[in-house]
Amino acid sequence: MADVIIAGAGLAGSVSARVLAEKGAHVLVLEERSHIGGNCYDVLSPEGIRVHQYGPHLFHTSNEDVWDFLSRFTQWTPYEHKVKAHINGVNAPLPFNFNSLRVLFPPQEAQKFIDALLGHYAPNTKVAILELKQHPNPLLQKLADFVYEKVFVGYTAKQWGIRPEELDGAVTARVPVFVGEDDRYFNDTFQAVPKEGYAKLFENLLNHPNITLKLATPFVFDPASSMRVIYTGMLDRLFDYCYGELPYRSIHLEFETINKIWFQDAATVNYPNDYDFTRITEFKHIHAAKSQKTVILKEFPCLHVKNKTEPYYPFFTQNAQALYACYANHAKQYPNLLLLGRLAEYKYYDMDDVVEKALQTATRVEK
Ligand SMILES: Cc1cc2nc3c(=O)[nH]c(=O)nc-3n(C[C@H](O)[C@H](O)[C@H](O)COP(=O)(O)OP(=O)(O)OC[C@H]3O[C@@H](n4cnc5c(N)ncnc54)[C@H](O)[C@@H]3O)c2cc1C
Repeated sequence: MADVIIAGAGLAGSVSARVLAEKGAHVLVLEERSHIGGNCYDVLSPEGIRVHQYGPHLFHTSNEDVWDFLSRFTQWTPYEHKVKAHINGVNAPLPFNFNSLRVLFPPQEAQKFIDALLGHYAPNTKVAILELKQHPNPLLQKLADFVYEKVFVGYTAKQWGIRPEELDGAVTARVPVFVGEDDRYFNDTFQAVPKEGYAKLFENLLNHPNITLKLATPFVFDPASSMRVIYTGMLDRLFDYCYGELPYRSIHLEFETINKIWFQDAATVNYPNDYDFTRITEFKHIHAAKSQKTVILKEFPCLHVKNKTEPYYPFFTQNAQALYACYANHAKQYPNLLLLGRLAEYKYYDMDDVVEKALQTATRVEK
């Protein structure tokens, strides 16, 4: 007999299961997919290249507790993610920094932008383009307009399926320009990928005598049951869409094996202004492989369609958040039902955030 049922074997479910099992609880994990790991799941391609089945996942955190906890279940390969944006026919580093200016502008013009930035801001800091837009120096205003137009507008419009003029100015203006030459996409203390892949990390997390895992087994809610449940799936679905569907963006993922050693000069290249896809990721940059071939992934954002596509990103609109609040309120009448993770909480969580939340939540649950 289980003490707790956990619906979902992604990070939220697997970390909670492990914490509870180590406290002595018997945990039954139900996962509707045929594999563990949720959206972090990875596999080896026939060429021996590790690919992330649901889009590229780069682990980064400054939370030592999260790092130490996961490090019990995997060794790591240090990895600092590099992203470029394809602008005016060339690939420029992101976040936008001095190197991006040097790639995109003639040397003298790039130096003028750099001097203007250094004249007003401390080295190695981030400045939001809203601040640059409002700066009295016309060069800095020009730079802000360039970054907004070339890096941000097209990408966000594709990602969220809206016209550029519908973008919320206040949100877009937070896009940073980096006053320096640091090309790393993340600045966290710990940046790495699991040495033997994410799937192995999950296998180790769930490998405990108190954990029973059932794959290809959807959890169905029984309102009359008093069993304690940690639910990490979609909340609208749990309650049979009684208030309507929560909107999500999805992504159509296209993997391609290319018959050459390297395809591009960075792990991820964003395409803000060309093509229907937002970005291309080449996995050999993330996990070293000896193959003469390479595997790339193109991401085509699309609207999520119930039972047809994967729900990836929740919407931040007021309507969507209000609808979620109805479901969250509805869930309150079931004190043994705990909602956890990106779907159940209708929130974008990075991996470290969800591990942190799962550690806190499962520690609070009595065994
Ligand atoms: C394209 C993309 C790229 C990302 N890249 C990064 C990155 O680089 N770095 C980073 O830190 N984060 C990244 N993330 C975020 C990361 O994927 C999430 O933080 C993490 O997956 C959240 O874990 P979770 O357990 O909440 O959800 P999930 O991983 O979605 O796991 C939920 C699990 O529950 C199962 N489930 C749902 N309903 C039921 C049910 N009724 N019964 C049984 N099982 C059910 C699902 O099948 C799934 O396996 C990315 C996300 C996306 C979409």
